[in-house]
Amino acid sequence: MFITLEGIEGSGKSTQITAIARWLKEAGYDCLTTREPGGTSIGGQIRSVLLHPANDDMAPGTELLLYVADRVQHLETVVRPALAAGKVVVCDRYFDATMVYQGYARGLDKKTILRLHDLSCGGQTPDLTLLLDLAPEEGLARAWRRIASDDAHAAESRFEKEKLAFHERVREGYLDLARNQPQRFCVIDADADTQTVQTRIETVLAHHFEI
Ligand code: C5P
Repeated sequence: MFITLEGIEGSGKSTQITAIARWLKEAGYDCLTTREPGGTSIGGQIRSVLLHPANDDMAPGTELLLYVADRVQHLETVVRPALAAGKVVVCDRYFDATMVYQGYARGLDKKTILRLHDLSCGGQTPDLTLLLDLAPEEGLARAWRRIASDDAHAAESRFEKEKLAFHERVREGYLDLARNQPQRFCVIDADADTQTVQTRIETVLAHHFEI
């Protein structure tokens, strides 16, 4: 089973993925958590290039291909072997992030992005996508608080500096994908405290895993 977690900046993905892994392990599942970009050693290097504040002038097409390169490496060396071994893979961001950030928000052609995904990743689709939905104003406020208290995160914070309108396009893009693929997406209202959001996610997981 391949589960992905998506959402705007500050939507709480990294906090919630830990709780999801704990819930799955307690339910008896062998679970692997990972992320994109940066779920492999090569991916970590690609992530540094993608997010480095000095690379503000990166062309959208370059950005797209770097995300795809990260994904090919991640799928081939981490995700597919784990799925083949019967694990539940939970991934912080995947292809939907590319559709939304590079397509909806940066304006690259969505059909081309989809085609690229088919060509490079065999169109590998998650079984379940949890979308942590939140207004960008609130997400960005959370992200800025995190940057203020975490130098390591500040070093790769190129995207938090985007204008609010960019993050609104990201949110709307995610909601559009969720509307068009209701069988795969589950939208979680993330405008609440950590424990409340966690309970909402666990309710979805219990339903999905029929526990
Ligand atoms: O998931 P995380 O917040 O660590 O993602 C790192 C950054 O990469 C985010 O700031 C996000 O805006 C950006 N990103 C992107 N395009 C993607 C995936 C992530 O611009 N396809």
